[in-house]
Amino acid sequence: MIWLAAAALLLGVGIQLCLGFARTARSSVQARLLLQEMETAVLTAEETRAAPLRLDTDALASLPARKAAAYEDLHLELLLLVNPWNEVPEDYTVELEPVGEWQIGEDQEVDVRCKDALLRMIADCQEAGYRPYICSSYRTQEMQELLFYNKLSRVVGMGYSWEQAPEIAAESVAVPGTSEHQLGLAVDLIDNDYTYLDEGQERTGTQKWLMENSWRYGFILRYPNGTTAITGIIYEPWHYRYVGERFAKDIHERGVTLEEYIALRRGR
Ligand SMILES: [Zn+2]
Repeated sequence: MIWLAAAALLLGVGIQLCLGFARTARSSVQARLLLQEMETAVLTAEETRAAPLRLDTDALASLPARKAAAYEDLHLELLLLVNPWNEVPEDYTVELEPVGEWQIGEDQEVDVRCKDALLRMIADCQEAGYRPYICSSYRTQEMQELLFYNKLSRVVGMGYSWEQAPEIAAESVAVPGTSEHQLGLAVDLIDNDYTYLDEGQERTGTQKWLMENSWRYGFILRYPNGTTAITGIIYEPWHYRYVGERFAKDIHERGVTLEEYIALRRGR
């Protein structure tokens, strides 16, 4: 236990730029209640087709169940839903490819299916005059456990009890087993001139370019501002998820989150 705490502390210094500054701005209890409500409601195909492109909370309350297992029949693995209520499937396997060393001594890897698109997106962003930087990519379960434990330690250090800490920590660091980073399809991209993981990222040239263009490369901004009640995660103007060009274009045009998009498809 001591070595684990020491390792967490050491790693914490290294990753502080990446994870230490995420601000919390949601009530996870509220979000969970909303999702529970949604899981008990079912929308007919006709109702879904008639649903507005940008769903409001009332419309959400009538969306169908969103358990990952329920969507297996879609056979669309790139749309695999992983969030606080849907864990990475136990038998999930990922074929990784390196995408270079973006932090000293830290090689980054992603799912082979999104490697080329990611590197193309970064190159084009650089070409446009910005300085994108891969801050985090694929994570193992063990790495996610370490990150979560590190966050827990810091929350307790802030004065919360060990009983209160997990829920607070989960607002900004995903509970191990529920992080999209474990799929290899998610990357945290930050601006080289502004390395904090906070809402200030949205004002950087890099993020402005990525938010406008990432869909062209098959990526979506996964946790947009104001969607915490749906995604269960704070606003993260740096976390991009690969879903493939076709789906990314559709999601971008509809202006919905992955949760809403899957629910819409499910209703078809
Ligand atoms: Zn992330």
